[in-house]
Amino acid sequence: MCPNATEVVRRLQAAGFQAFIVGGSVRDLILGKVPKDFDVATDATPEQVKAVFPRCLLIGRRFRLAHVRYRGTLVEVATFRGESLKDGEHQQHADGRILRDNSFGPIEEDARRRDFSINALFMDPVTGEIRDYVGGYEDLASRVLRLIGDPETRYREDPVRLLRAARFIAKLGVEPNSETSSLIPELAPLLQDISPARLFEEVCKLFLTGHATRTLETLQRFELTRALFPLFERQGSPGKAKLPAILWAALANTDQRVAEGLAVTPSFLFAALLWAPFKQRADELQNTKLPVFVAMQRAGDEVVEVQNGRVALPRRFASVTREIWLMQHRLKKTRGRRALNVLRHPKFRAGYDFLLLQAHVDGEWAELAEFWTRAQQDAPPPKVPEKVGRVRRRPRRRKNHSNRH
Ligand code: ATP
Ligand code: MG
Repeated sequence: MCPNATEVVRRLQAAGFQAFIVGGSVRDLILGKVPKDFDVATDATPEQVKAVFPRCLLIGRRFRLAHVRYRGTLVEVATFRGESLKDGEHQQHADGRILRDNSFGPIEEDARRRDFSINALFMDPVTGEIRDYVGGYEDLASRVLRLIGDPETRYREDPVRLLRAARFIAKLGVEPNSETSSLIPELAPLLQDISPARLFEEVCKLFLTGHATRTLETLQRFELTRALFPLFERQGSPGKAKLPAILWAALANTDQRVAEGLAVTPSFLFAALLWAPFKQRADELQNTKLPVFVAMQRAGDEVVEVQNGRVALPRRFASVTREIWLMQHRLKKTRGRRALNVLRHPKFRAGYDFLLLQAHVDGEWAELAEFWTRAQQDAPPPKVPEKVGRVRRRPRRRKNHSNRH
């Protein structure tokens, strides 16, 4: 249990409010996993939370939350949300989507507004009491993923729940009951209406948190893959894609890196995800007599643009993704000065890592990969740029000022 989240709950309770740890953190604690963050739900309004924690930040447009930072831990404190419709506080789109939602309500309603029963448990960290209004505890014990309420209504309200279902199945090893799973393939096209920026966040949670391989298997199983990646070649039903070996290799590699505590980046992930469509488009353009490099640049731009219409890759990541692709061409230059320039290219490392993946799945690339592995060992250490030696140090602070802060 997180002592800081517990302390936030204790302070709210001391001020006379109900407060619980809630959602994914309770679920993970019961499953014996370490939650990556803690959420608190309370009957205090955001303003009342602010009165208890004057330095907290009130954030969010769709749901208003208080971000309470307590001894370095960020705890999200949300007011119980209700089901009642109050004018202007809860607006629904014609197709059933909830656009804005700020109506507060009793704890039972807050539970029913959550997505899956296993995500709707409340825990009082002070007493250890668990409040369960939706049968979530039993579902958790029998590893069942069950959407709360009428599945079609709940998926239509927020189609991202389709992806969340896939994520929890992959991540937690829970199995959906038939009501929860049967509509997923049919409703997958609803993801077209979700903002590409929100879908980017979801894709990162799907693929960069250590269970990417199982996630892709799950997306395939529930025919969600092509709703996220419309450029993937269809295989079988409309939602399923033909997936090249390099993609599986990249995901296995990503999972391994996460398990080892190494950094993983959206740029590399997207380079692998979109490699096949990129390659196909680059080949097509090359066949129209464009020079290879120009064809690759143009294909990179086009593929990223189409993908951005569904899942928006922020620009700083997209530019690295394109560089990784272009590096696959540059890395073919293994002679003399040009090779040395490639080695010094700022994106050499990312390009080389991608080449290793290619070599892993296709022996044809092995020799080239081997060349660059050796080239790095043989390369002279990079020269320190002259400027570095000339940078002036900041003047030292006088001693009697040194313990000011
Ligand atoms: P993770 O392990 O990824 O953090 P989580 O269940 O904590 O999983 P969050 O996105 O952190 O997921 O959301 C916290 C809680 O808010 C969920 O457990 C759930 O109760 C509720 N919630 C989140 N997203 C939705 C949604 N789209 N619809 C309904 N409830 C949601
Ligand atoms: Mg969470």
